[in-house]
Amino acid sequence: MTQVAFIGLGVMGAPMARRLIASRFATSVYDVRADARAAFSGLDNCRVATSPADAAAGADYLFTMLPESSHVDEVLFGMQGAAQSLANNALVVEMSTGDPRRTMAMAESLEQMGKRMIDCPVGRTPADAKAGTLLILVGGSGDILEEARPMLACFGDEIVHVGPFGSAIKLKLVNNYMTMVGMVMTAETLMFGRKLGLDRDMLVHVLQNTVAGRGQINVNFPKKVLAGDLSADFPLRLGLKDLSLALDLAKSAGAPLLLGGVSRELFALAAPWGRSEQDCTAMLLLLEDIAHCDNIGEVRC
Ligand code: NAD
Repeated sequence: MTQVAFIGLGVMGAPMARRLIASRFATSVYDVRADARAAFSGLDNCRVATSPADAAAGADYLFTMLPESSHVDEVLFGMQGAAQSLANNALVVEMSTGDPRRTMAMAESLEQMGKRMIDCPVGRTPADAKAGTLLILVGGSGDILEEARPMLACFGDEIVHVGPFGSAIKLKLVNNYMTMVGMVMTAETLMFGRKLGLDRDMLVHVLQNTVAGRGQINVNFPKKVLAGDLSADFPLRLGLKDLSLALDLAKSAGAPLLLGGVSRELFALAAPWGRSEQDCTAMLLLLEDIAHCDNIGEVRC
């Protein structure tokens, strides 16, 4: 019978482990917090372990759902670490959002011990973890994904094979970059509106229905720059004009728009890079030129 271990029973990990157990996978669970472990005592198909090594003893699969890479490292290779007691050729499914370089280094160490690893970060919320509707990103070979799929299907309703090992956690961080910068942009925008005395509900309502609110990635980018069409629906030159008007107004109202200031610098580069008459979405090409994207950067451990 397949033996599964799950380490990290926090906001995300606890409901995920419960779903594995409810799907009748024989599961041993461990968390450094006693209260998190105690919540799993007495469940059928579940053994509450006393250490990572104990949880992993003889396990074919180990799921890790921990805050950061340092915790994963400790769980795998620390005192009473899980790596030493996993079954030969066991698969570690690393689901935390960590540092891709450290994930790769851990995979190398595991490989030397005869064990395998895939990077498998998740998207969406704790409510999705409970409902089994997470988005699951997988980095690793197609064969390993198929091997793990019955267990991954307990956690999510969308499993995306991103590519080779390491690619899923990179994609996750790229996504989270957009998420977090979007937080600042949204907050900055609402603060700007408030400083100008605009009604917040009205502003939110209007923004939810403009291109800005619906998202460039959904509206303009697919039909313009990503489709190879740089003809200007709205040129970078006029983008610079509007951004400058907004920033001048913000300055007079005493609203600090930090993201806006950086963005204006970038729009101002369109002219020297010969792109000011191209569509605003050509901002992508401007940034790719500056970053020398024809030379893809290798991520090193
Ligand atoms: P959490 O802090 O609620 O849970 C982490 C658990 O790991 C805790 O119970 C903690 O006690 C345990 N832990 C820490 N160190 C340990 C160790 N050495 N040994 C055993 N257990 C240890 O975090 P979370 O919200 O469940 O998130 C887990 C990961 O998933 C993070 O990387 C997070 O970024 C990512 N994530 C979170 C969400 C979310 O909405 N919360 C969504 C997607 C991804």
